[in-house]
Amino acid sequence: MPLPPPATIRTVTNPNLQYALAADIGGTNIRAALVDAEGHMTGRGSINTEPERGIDDASARLATLLKAARATAPSGAEIVGVGVSTAGPIKPATGTYNHPPNLPGWHDKSMKSSLSEAMGVPVWVGHDATLAALAETRFGDHVGAENLIYVTISTGVGGGIIANSEMVTGSSGGAGEVGHLAVRTGAYKCNVGCDGCFEGNASGPAIAKIARERFTGEGPLSEMAKGDPENITSRMVFDAADAGDEVALGVVDLTIENVSIGLGMLINVFNPEALVIGGGVVQGLQRHWEKLKATVIEKSLPGYGSTTPLTATRLGDDVSLLGAAQLAFRQARRQ
Ligand SMILES: [Zn+2]
Repeated sequence: MPLPPPATIRTVTNPNLQYALAADIGGTNIRAALVDAEGHMTGRGSINTEPERGIDDASARLATLLKAARATAPSGAEIVGVGVSTAGPIKPATGTYNHPPNLPGWHDKSMKSSLSEAMGVPVWVGHDATLAALAETRFGDHVGAENLIYVTISTGVGGGIIANSEMVTGSSGGAGEVGHLAVRTGAYKCNVGCDGCFEGNASGPAIAKIARERFTGEGPLSEMAKGDPENITSRMVFDAADAGDEVALGVVDLTIENVSIGLGMLINVFNPEALVIGGGVVQGLQRHWEKLKATVIEKSLPGYGSTTPLTATRLGDDVSLLGAAQLAFRQARRQ
């Protein structure tokens, strides 16, 4: 005779059917997708942010986008919640913005509760650079890393820090502003006005600006810029260096040194298991990877740089959505 069933049957969650809804809020676009535990995405959608319409309007439109993504889930799927990766600064616990430069009018406001109400699941919010670092520890080249730093070098320079498996957010959500580490005092200032910072001396606009100041009107860089230094872009500087342009080679060398000083300081302070860099400038730097790695080692403390792998992100444009999804999986487990 078969045994009677147990009095209470405990539901066993099948991790293969767990999904997170992920959103990425930037100043221009809001993107969303349904993401499984392995980082596979379905139901991708995108809308214009139009921040001037207000945060409540954006929250309602994002909910529509997320519901469409959720509709692509297989039957029996468990939605653990919504992870939101956003431009900041933002207080992660409440999702409250703190004078966000790219989301004007959103200061002191949050969409966490309205979005949670609309979706019927918990919502967790994080800063995009911090969540990029989190994504690297789950879906990138350093799975399981407990100490990882992600630096984006693009129009600006920013960063995300994972220390002892936790996201470093700071008291008001503003931690990780690695772009304003001083790398070369007495050199160029950033838009904020700090003297010789990483962003002011190694961001895309900084690279172009330095090349413009050194412009001679001769050689491959001049040809690419059609004789007008105002046409110079950072991408052009890297391309001209490949073509042997003397000025461009000098600017690339200076950029490698400036980036290396900034990265070296981060390695010294955080002693990470890995340092990952992303952003448009990295495509140029990848052509000088061995030199960059050697200079980072030279600019960090003995034994620090040489033991810290430096890699370029391979997560591409999906890094924010993957970070948002991982935030949701992680927070759901902790509940
Ligand atoms: Zn600065």
